[in-house]
Amino acid sequence: MAQQEDVFKKIVSHAKEYGFVFQSSEIYDGLAAVYDYGQNGVELKNNIKRYWWDAMTLLHENIVGIDSAIFMHPTIWKASGHVDAFNDPLIDNRDSKKRYRADVLIEEELAKIDDKIEKEVAKARKRFGESFDEALFRQTNPRVAEQVEKRQKLHERFANAMNDNNLEELRQIIIDCEIACPVSGTRNWTEVRQFNLMFRTEMGSTADGAMTVYLRPETAQGIFVNYLNVQKTGRMRLPFGIAQIGKAFRNEIVARQFIFRMREFEQMEMQFFVRPGQELQWFEFWKQWRLKWHKALGLGDSKYRYHDHDKLAHYANAATDIEFEMPFGFKEVEGIHSRTNFDLSQHEKFSGKNIKYFDPELNESYTPYVIETSIGVDRMFLSVLCSSYEEQKLEGGDTRVVLHLPAALAPVKCAVMPLVKKDGLPEKAREIVDDLKFDFATRYDEKDSIGKRYRRQDAVGTPFCITVDHQTLEDGTVTLRERDSMEQTRVNVADLHKLIHDRVSLTSLLRKLA
Ligand code: ATP
Repeated sequence: MAQQEDVFKKIVSHAKEYGFVFQSSEIYDGLAAVYDYGQNGVELKNNIKRYWWDAMTLLHENIVGIDSAIFMHPTIWKASGHVDAFNDPLIDNRDSKKRYRADVLIEEELAKIDDKIEKEVAKARKRFGESFDEALFRQTNPRVAEQVEKRQKLHERFANAMNDNNLEELRQIIIDCEIACPVSGTRNWTEVRQFNLMFRTEMGSTADGAMTVYLRPETAQGIFVNYLNVQKTGRMRLPFGIAQIGKAFRNEIVARQFIFRMREFEQMEMQFFVRPGQELQWFEFWKQWRLKWHKALGLGDSKYRYHDHDKLAHYANAATDIEFEMPFGFKEVEGIHSRTNFDLSQHEKFSGKNIKYFDPELNESYTPYVIETSIGVDRMFLSVLCSSYEEQKLEGGDTRVVLHLPAALAPVKCAVMPLVKKDGLPEKAREIVDDLKFDFATRYDEKDSIGKRYRRQDAVGTPFCITVDHQTLEDGTVTLRERDSMEQTRVNVADLHKLIHDRVSLTSLLRKLA
């Protein structure tokens, strides 16, 4: 684990050193849990968004996009339940003055029990070898049984406290489990308080009665309140979907782990409107399809898992997360929820407007049910970055840091380099750049030795380097070096376009999904 944390630290500093992610307001010592994307980061981020947008809107003829405003009528957040219930329970340790989420402290306690159970099983597996019957062991071993019972009791108490919004009970659980602050080591806890995660601001000048408005904590509500506009103007028939990419804001209590949990972040959400009664089959469809989208990137199939929710939000009748194996464990990257007709019904109630869908086939009006797929751009960025990073030992004792980014997502697709800065080689290299730049993000680099230049491109994940040498002037061929294998082949300048396109285009990625 310590080793993994080490790797994560290296990835964070690599992200800064190579212009992917900077701390916001760095020269003012930063602003907690807010980050800026640098020259390479913005390209990678845009490519991730493009991949999502095209996969959702081009490959599904019944999905269209919108771009709704960040500010919305404040009653929307009353209707959605965010004003009253978008809270996290927080608790402070009086000695360290550190703040925690009470629910997270208890979840970590549950995870500790899980670890103990798994350790017992692993120990037994080693002891019994081939003849080990794991299922039987889990059922009959008294130490495992004791832990399982302990876990069940704690989980039930925790779920009840959360469902009943019982803050005193949450605190009591922390006391009873003897959970100590990792910083001070003491159990000197304050009361548990609810903390609303929405940022508030004012619209209009105070003189003419300013109105409190919120920075949206999710993009979904902009889709719900527009669904009938899109349906009518686009002549859409159920089932259909609306996709949106945009910023969301949450005043997270504890923000750690770099861009995993930010206060300003970006979401890619799609709401899919279906007939009541068909929602679970569509939920299943989107659950499968979204995982396929992730796996097509080739980051490694074993890095994904589903986490089905057993404790459902009051509006949901099915929910699952797609988790990705980050250096700090499997973590949620995307949520897929069957949200019933909760949101639309609420907006109908609070707005007093009829926003029912008229179904021409059934000749009746009803409120559609909704399946939502919701993924964080920044978490996706982090999973791509973490799984691409490698410190590679090369033959001859040399090392290189390489980002094995999926080629279609790489910020730079190819770098063109004259072997030396004379003899007409720079001019020839520029000519190649001028031809490729219309279709691919292309860099020109003539500084330092060729080896150093290759390393620089490896570090930002450029799939191809093209080297122009004296032979180029004679026979029109260049050296094409591939990032991952470091293989170099001699190719015709005239063939470059096709060779690069086949490897880096988003189209080939999208075709995997068709
Ligand atoms: P978590 O349990 O980690 O707080 P959540 O379940 O509240 O996440 P959702 O409300 O389902 O998250 O939001 C959908 C997606 O938006 C998440 O899967 C995640 O990728 C992203 N997301 C949510 N909160 C943040 C955040 N603070 N920073 C970055 N991304 C976020």
